[in-house]
Amino acid sequence: MIEPGATIGILGGGQLGRMTGLAARSLGYDVHVLDPDPHCPASAIASRTVAARFDDADAAASLAERCAVVTLEIEQIGTAALAAVTALAPLRPSAGAVHVIQDRIRQKRWLAAQGFPVGPFRDVSSRDECVAAFGALGRSIVKATSGGYDGRGQVRVGSAQEAVDAWVTLGERPCLVEQFLDIEVELSVLVARRPATGTSPPQVAVFPPARNHHEHGVLDWSTLPATAEAQTIRDAAELATGVASTLGIEGLLAVELFVTRNGRLLVNELAPRPHNTFHSTERGCATSQFEQLIRAVCDLPLGSTEVLKPAAIANLLGDLWMPGTPNFAASLGGPTVRLHLYGKASARPGRKMGHLSAVGATTDEALARVLRARDAMRR
Ligand code: ADP
Ligand code: MG
Repeated sequence: MIEPGATIGILGGGQLGRMTGLAARSLGYDVHVLDPDPHCPASAIASRTVAARFDDADAAASLAERCAVVTLEIEQIGTAALAAVTALAPLRPSAGAVHVIQDRIRQKRWLAAQGFPVGPFRDVSSRDECVAAFGALGRSIVKATSGGYDGRGQVRVGSAQEAVDAWVTLGERPCLVEQFLDIEVELSVLVARRPATGTSPPQVAVFPPARNHHEHGVLDWSTLPATAEAQTIRDAAELATGVASTLGIEGLLAVELFVTRNGRLLVNELAPRPHNTFHSTERGCATSQFEQLIRAVCDLPLGSTEVLKPAAIANLLGDLWMPGTPNFAASLGGPTVRLHLYGKASARPGRKMGHLSAVGATTDEALARVLRARDAMRR
C-alpha cells in the first residue's frame, strides 16, 4: 500500500493528469508529471514537471526514481520509456497492457483474438489493401494506428477513390479499416482494479455505463448513468470487467462500446486511464474517477461507484473561444452547473479547453442544464 504523503508520478500532463493530480493532492499525495510542454495543464498542480517527449527514456527514469508509483493519462508513451519507469517504480497500468492498447491494430486484433465482440475490420498496410478492405466492408472509417484522438487521424470513406485518398491523407502507413456501423447509442464503462496480491483476486469496482454523444468524432456530451435496457447495462459491465481482467489492469480501464441498431454490443476502443465520459463521476458519484485511480494505483480500498445523483457533462471546445473568450459568468447561471477549465493557454478549434457539469433529478434534466449553460457562454 502506498500511503498518503508519498509521491505519485503521472506520464502526461493534460487535463486528465491535472484532474488526477488534484484528486491525489486531496488525498495528501505529492504529484510529479512528465509532459513535453513545461506549462501543461497538470504543471499547475505538480511540484515537479519533467519537460520531455513521451519517448524519452532518460526523462521517464528521472520521473520514476522520485516516485512511489507511476501512472499515466495518455497511452502514447514510448516502449523504452515505459520500460525505464518499470525498472524503477511500479507502473500502473503495466507496460504490457499499455502496449496492447496504444496501437489500434494491435488492440483490435487482441480484442478479436480474446473473443470480445468487435465490428468487422481489416488492417491494411498498402494502398491496394486499403481499397480492397473498402471493397469487402463497404462504407468504412479508416483509422491511423497510433496518435489519433478526438476523431483526429480518422477518415470516413464511401468509395474506392475515397479509400485511396484516406490512405494518402493518413500518411501511407498501416491503418485500421472499420466497417461504418449503424449505431443506436454509444456507451462507456469504467473499471477500476487494484493490484493482485498473492492468490486472492484483486478488488474490482465498475462504474455504471455512461451514455455518450459525439459530434464530428469528438465527445460533445455525456450522461451518467446511461438509461438502457437492464440486460444491456449488465452485459456492458460484464464485458468491460472481462476485458480489464484479461489485460490485468491495475488502475483504470475505460471501455467504449457501441450498441448497434440490430441490437449488438460491440467494443469500439479501450483507454487505460481516466476518460472524458466519466468526468461526471466528480458530481454524480460517491467516488470520482480521479480519486478511484489514485486509490487503485496506491492499492487503497476502492471507493463506491454508486451514482448518488444523475449527472451530465458538456465539453467546451476551442471553437467556443472564437472570436473571443466565452462568457464564463453566464455558464454559472444555471442551477447546479459547474465550470471546469483546464488552464490551456491557447484555444484551437476542436481542442478540449474545459467542460461543464451538472446534476439533476434525471439525466435529461442534468443534460439540459449543461447544454443551456454552454449556449449562454456564446458571445
Ligand atoms: P477516438 O480515439 O478519436 O475517440 P474512436 O475510434 O473512438 O476514436 O472514434 C470516435 C467516434 O467516431 C466514435 O465515438 C464514434 O462516434 C465514431 N466511430 C468510430 N468508429 C466507428 C465505426 N466503426 N462506425 C461508426 N462510427 C464510428
Ligand atoms: Mg473514442
